[in-house]
Amino acid sequence: MPTDENRHYHYKEENQKILITEHAYEPEFEAKSGALFCQSNGYLGVRGAAALPTLYGSRGTSVAGYYHRAFPGQPKELVSGPDIAGLRIRFRRRELSPDSPSLKGFERSFCPQDAQLTSSMVFEPGEKVRLLVEERRFASFADPHLFCQYIRIVCREGSGVPLFVSAVLDAGVTNGGVCHFSEVSGSVKDRRVMQLRAVPGTGAGEDPEQAQGLPAWMVTSRTFWSCPERQADQAQSVFALKGRSLRETREYCLEAGDELELVRFTRVETDGLTEPVCEDTGGGETGLMSEEKAGESLSPLRRYLEAFGQHEECLRRLRMQGEIRIAGASTEERTVLSLAQYHLLAMVPWGRSDCSVAAKALTGEGYKGHVFWDNELFIQPYLVLFYPEQAKATLRYRCDQLDDAVRKAAAFGYDGALFPWESAADGEEQTPPTAAINIHTGKANPVWSALKEHHISADVGYAVLQYFDFTGDAEFLMKYGLEILLEVSLFWASRAVWSGQNKRYEILDVIGPDEYTEHIDNNAYTNYMAHYVMNRTLQLLEESEAWGEAERILQKRHEDPHAALLKIRSVRDGLYLPGPESNGIIPQDDTFLSKKPLENIEYYREAPVRQVVLQDYSRDQVVDMQVLKQADLVMLFSLFPDLFDRETVRKNLAFYADRTVHDSSLSYCMHACAFAQTGDMDSAEAFFRRSLSIDLNENPFESADGIHAAAMGGMLISILFGFAGLHVRGQRLCASPHLPERWKRVECTPRFRGEAVPLTIVNEEETWQR
Ligand code: BGC
Repeated sequence: MPTDENRHYHYKEENQKILITEHAYEPEFEAKSGALFCQSNGYLGVRGAAALPTLYGSRGTSVAGYYHRAFPGQPKELVSGPDIAGLRIRFRRRELSPDSPSLKGFERSFCPQDAQLTSSMVFEPGEKVRLLVEERRFASFADPHLFCQYIRIVCREGSGVPLFVSAVLDAGVTNGGVCHFSEVSGSVKDRRVMQLRAVPGTGAGEDPEQAQGLPAWMVTSRTFWSCPERQADQAQSVFALKGRSLRETREYCLEAGDELELVRFTRVETDGLTEPVCEDTGGGETGLMSEEKAGESLSPLRRYLEAFGQHEECLRRLRMQGEIRIAGASTEERTVLSLAQYHLLAMVPWGRSDCSVAAKALTGEGYKGHVFWDNELFIQPYLVLFYPEQAKATLRYRCDQLDDAVRKAAAFGYDGALFPWESAADGEEQTPPTAAINIHTGKANPVWSALKEHHISADVGYAVLQYFDFTGDAEFLMKYGLEILLEVSLFWASRAVWSGQNKRYEILDVIGPDEYTEHIDNNAYTNYMAHYVMNRTLQLLEESEAWGEAERILQKRHEDPHAALLKIRSVRDGLYLPGPESNGIIPQDDTFLSKKPLENIEYYREAPVRQVVLQDYSRDQVVDMQVLKQADLVMLFSLFPDLFDRETVRKNLAFYADRTVHDSSLSYCMHACAFAQTGDMDSAEAFFRRSLSIDLNENPFESADGIHAAAMGGMLISILFGFAGLHVRGQRLCASPHLPERWKRVECTPRFRGEAVPLTIVNEEETWQR
C-alpha cells in the first residue's frame, strides 16, 4: 500500500464535493487517468487525457453504438473517433507539453458528482517566463452531443511573451493503429466554426451496402476568445487543415498579468438518434455556439458556466434518483462509490435500445468496446432498481437481437436463442477467435467463449426476470420479455442432452463464468441458471394462463410450438442440478473436484499483473487444475442466496474462494456480495475493499484501456444486494441487511413496482419494507 505522499491519486471532500486529484504529472498514468476521468454522458466519451500534447496516453472520442469493421473477417470495434479536446500552445519554437521539463507544476482533479475535470499547469518555457494554463471541461448531460472546455492562460512572469494558441480537432486518431475513417474533410464556416467530417471506410472489400449504413461523424466546434484589450484588434483567427487535423490559431504577445481565455463548444453528431437525457434543461440546441443568441458580451467563462449549469442540474437530478448514501462510510468508500455512480450514469445509452453498455463503457478501446454478460448481470441490476426505464431499453437491445441469436443457435444445431458472447450494436458474434500468445506453444490462445460460453443466454433471461420482479411491468413482459424467455428456454431445452446412464438431462461441454475451466460438463452455474429461466418461464405461463400467447410467439420461428413447450417442461423436470457431495461441496462441474489445486495460489493472486498463471502454465494445464479465474458458484450464491442452506453456502464459499485467483475484475464484487449475504463480515469486507480498488488504484497500467464497467456495477451490487440484502419475496421488496459495523445505515430510494420507495437500511435482522 503506498503511503499517502507516494500516492498518485488523492481523494478529498470539500464543501460536500468529492475530488480525486493528481498532484504530479506522471506520464505512465496518462492513459489510466484518461479512462478514469473520461468525460462521458451516455452518448459520447471523451478521454480525460491532457488537452496539451503528451507522449503517452490515449486520445479521442467514442460514441455509444458506433461500431465499425475495418477489415473483412475482423470483429467490429467501438471506433475511437476524433480528438476534440486538443489544445496547442507554442512559445517561440516550443510546444508546451506536460512531458517537457518546462512543466513546473501540475494538478488535475475530477469531481465525480458534477463530472467536471479541472487541471492547472505551470510552465517555465523560457528564462523569466512563467505561464499558468488552466482548463475545465465536461461532456454535457443536458445535451449529449455537447462537449465544453474552458481554458485560461495567465502570464505570471515575462514581457513580450509570444504565444500561438490553437484549438484543435484531430481525426487522426486510431484504434491501436487501425484507422476506421477512409475520408476526412475539414471546413470553416463564417470564419468561426470549424467542422470535421469523418467518413467510415467500407471495410476493404466488405459489402459496401453494409458499411454505408454507418453515418459519418460530423464534429462542429466554435471557440470564443478573450484577450487583453490592447490585443483585441490584432487577434484574428487563422484556420489550417493539416492532414486529418483542423485547427484555429491565434497569436498573442503577453505581458506579466495578462490573461487569455477561451471557451470551446464542440458538438459531435453521428446521427439523429440521441435524445436529451432530461428534456426541460434545454437539451438539444444550447444556443451557446451562436453569437446572436447568446450575445457578444458574454465572457468565455460566463458562457462556459451557463452550459455547465445546465449540465450540472441535469446530472444532479439523475444522480439523486440513484444515490446510495452510507452513513459511516470512509472517504475512500464514498469516493469510489461516487466514481462508480458517475461512470454508471455516463456509460448508459440513455433512451436508446439500439446499443448496450460495453465492458469498458465509453472510456477506452479494451475488449474492442464489445458488450458481454457484464451488462445484464453487473450493470443492469443498478438500473433496474433506480432507472427501470433504461433497464427496459437495454433489454430491448437483446430482444432486437433475437433473430441473430436464433440463427447462432441453429448454426450449432440448437433451437431457441443463443446470444453472442461479445456483441457490437447488432446481434452478430464479435468474439475474436484468438487472444494472448501462449508462451508454451508460441501461438495465440484460441478463445472458446463464442463457441462454448453459453451461460450468456441464461443471463439474459435472468435479467428479464429480475426486471419483471422489481417493476411488475407486465406490458413489457408480454410484448418483449416473454419472447426472450421462451427462446432462451427453448435453447436450453435443446442444449441439454438426456443421459441414459444417469437418467437425467445434462448440459455438456460448456465454459462457465470461470474461464479457466473449458469444455466441462454440468457447470453448476450454467445448469442452475438454465433451470431457473425455464422454470420461471413455465411458471409465468401458468400464472397468467398465457400458453396460447406463448405458442403464438414461438410460432414465429418454430414449426411446432406445442412440442417446444413440452420439451422445455420435460428438460426443466429432468435437468441435473448438482447438489452438495458427502463433504458438503457442490461440484463446480463434473470433473472439478478430481483435479489438483494450483500450488502457491497466493503468489498468483498478489502478482502485480493479472493472468500470470497463464504464463507459467499452458492453457491445458490450467484447465486441468483447481484454479478459478473468477466467481463461478460464488456468483450463483450471490444471485440466489436462498438456493442452499446457509451452512452449505458458507462451506462452499470458503472452498471456492480458496481456489480463486480473481484474474477477472468481475470477481471481488461477487465474493463481497455472497459473503455479506451469509453474514461473514470479515470476508465480505475484505473482498469489498479489494473491489474498491479495481480502477482507482496505484497501478498505472490497470484501466489504461478503459475502466472496468462491470466491476463498478458489481461494487454497487455488493452494497445493495449483498450488505443491504435487497431482494424481492413474492410481491414485496425486502432487505436482510448485514452492514459492516462502521456503516450506521444505507439510504437510497429504489423504484419498486412503479413507485419510489425511500429506504433506510440499518443492521437489524430483517427489515421488511413493503
Ligand atoms: C471475464 C468475463 C467478462 C469479460 C469482460 C473477462 O476477463 O472473464 O467474465 O465478461 O472479461 O469484462
